[in-house]
Amino acid sequence: MTEKQTHEQRMARKKAVIDERIAKATEERGVLILLKGNGKGKSSSALGTMARCVGHGKKSAVLQFIKGRKETGEFLFFRDHPLIDWYVMGHGFTWETQDKQQDIEAAQQAWAKAVELLQDPSYEMLVFDEMAYMFKYNYLPLEPVIEALQNRPRNQHVMITGRVMPQGLEDIADTISNIKDERHAFRQGVTSQAGIEY
Ligand code: ATP
Ligand code: MG
Repeated sequence: MTEKQTHEQRMARKKAVIDERIAKATEERGVLILLKGNGKGKSSSALGTMARCVGHGKKSAVLQFIKGRKETGEFLFFRDHPLIDWYVMGHGFTWETQDKQQDIEAAQQAWAKAVELLQDPSYEMLVFDEMAYMFKYNYLPLEPVIEALQNRPRNQHVMITGRVMPQGLEDIADTISNIKDERHAFRQGVTSQAGIEY
């Protein structure tokens, strides 16, 4: 057999396996996607996927659990889109904050908004950005979050980002991506830049 024929045979076998898998995956429903890990690309991936949804006319919402820099590029780009609602947690947890009670109140306010969104079937994509931190710091109890996620409308996708995910969320997620930090420009002295970090 020539090299070309061997290659063709191998590709045909591969295609058969993939076609069979595709034929088996027929269910259409909302999925819960977790984006975790120390590498760069979690929030931007979630918002990229949201852009995909919006491109298909699907109404979406972003809820930022950590109030970082206010005017990020993504906020400036998406905020006026008629299919996108963008919420930033009230006075907000920031890395500088010292007031734990205030953080807990802000987390609870954000959670109240999340519950509203999770009960509204007109939203087909929800991004809960940096929500995972709320569990790490015990600002939110996990049980009601799991329950609300499980009872959400069948067509609704949810993406949650954060470096460390609680086990309970991983247990109910459909897709989990762990973004590994191999290298980051920051460690070579490159500062946080508009269009890259925010
Ligand atoms: P992005 O918003 O670029 O998708 P991210 O959501 O994965 O990043 P976070 O953990 O939310 O990253 O961190 C927020 C900020 O820290 C981002 O501006 C990001 O560029 C930066 N960052 C992410 N990972 C690293 C890292 N390993 N070292 C230094 N800075 C990082
Ligand atoms: Mg992020």
